[in-house]
Amino acid sequence: MLVLVSNAGSTSLKFKLFDMPSERPLCEARVERVGSGEGIYHYQNAERNAALREDGLAVPGYSDGIRRFLSSLLDGESGVRLDGAAIRIEDVGAIGFKTVLAKGYYAVHELSAEVLAAMEAYRPVAPVHNGAYLEVIARFKEAFPRSRMAGVFETFFHTTIPLERRLYGIPYEWYRRYGVSRLGYHSASHSYVAQTLRADDEGEKKYRRIISCHLGGSCSICAILDGKSVDNSFGFSLQAGVPHANRTGDLDPYIMLFLLDSGMSMNELRAGLEKNGGMMGLSGFSNDMRDLEEAAEGKGKTPERAERARLALDVFVTAVQRYIGQYYAELGGLDALVFTAGIGENSPRLRKRIAASAACFGVSVDDSANETAKGRGKLLISAADSAAELWIVPANEEIIVARETYKLFTKTEAA
Ligand code: AMP
Repeated sequence: MLVLVSNAGSTSLKFKLFDMPSERPLCEARVERVGSGEGIYHYQNAERNAALREDGLAVPGYSDGIRRFLSSLLDGESGVRLDGAAIRIEDVGAIGFKTVLAKGYYAVHELSAEVLAAMEAYRPVAPVHNGAYLEVIARFKEAFPRSRMAGVFETFFHTTIPLERRLYGIPYEWYRRYGVSRLGYHSASHSYVAQTLRADDEGEKKYRRIISCHLGGSCSICAILDGKSVDNSFGFSLQAGVPHANRTGDLDPYIMLFLLDSGMSMNELRAGLEKNGGMMGLSGFSNDMRDLEEAAEGKGKTPERAERARLALDVFVTAVQRYIGQYYAELGGLDALVFTAGIGENSPRLRKRIAASAACFGVSVDDSANETAKGRGKLLISAADSAAELWIVPANEEIIVARETYKLFTKTEAA
């Protein structure tokens, strides 16, 4: 079955086509700056050695991006061929989306009218993500009328978290009526970490207790026991947990009531929580760890900026440390601490600082492996005498979406 995986951002669209179950990637593409006349389009078909980039593309809406992708996919020169013949739209058996959340549908689901309505019901919890996906799914349904569509909801890996860790101390009615509870996100990423590490285990059960640190523009820490999520730092929404690039992370709810009572408008408050918080808010000048690390070293920045960058980095490391400590206790120990996503894969300094923050658990980094990790893929970076292994696992969320989509539709066909 050919499975197309699509990720939607507020101004971007990504595509990756897999032949399942072999998991052979057939082509991939990316449209940036959707909603403008200045779109950028990348397409690659490694098998046919075809790659192209176009700038200044008119992409007023998602359907224009989908059309552009379709024309490359079906193109005689650069398109995908199956057994020597050009593919047709109807050969794409299923499309999987890394959807975020839907009320009452937390696993992997066919995108029926009910599931789409449940996504709509939770639009206020993830306004940007759910808004983008609802629009994109509607456009894909027009462009691929015969393909089945799956939502691989970002909550799916966390349905195994025990209820006592999910529940907030709120009136129980809020949970029953509105579903307010810790749902957890970044499922595709943490599930990939668990599957990848345990795949090499050869039945030795070396990796029973994993703490997975997805550190990127959006961050979350996950406790994994025997391959299943048992806790995640996100909450009901993607706002919670460690500070993100622009989002605050964990926040005492009375701060919001206090600020509203003090005359702050709802729009100002929302902007502080979503855009002007996190690393951006703490540093006051950048949401990007590369800038903050440079500034903290005093490179080309004023002393005030250097100081604020150091502070932002300290807050970040402390927040990650808190979750590692909590999850160590919840898991009853640790076999592997894993780093993934933009920061986790690319920042030796932050990996070293985070590992040092957990030194009381006996973990230690091999400096040479840590510093030369770039471009080496999945890599062990712990010292020989470390009490738990430290790993870098490059993120591959698309393959999880493809696997889950394939599983859903082959299971329902067999039933
Ligand atoms: P992601 O959301 O996983 O794509 O991660 C993006 C983030 O990774 C960026 O905003 C940076 O903060 C961070 N990042 C990427 N490369 C580096 C690097 N070489 N050093 C530190 N942080 C990095």
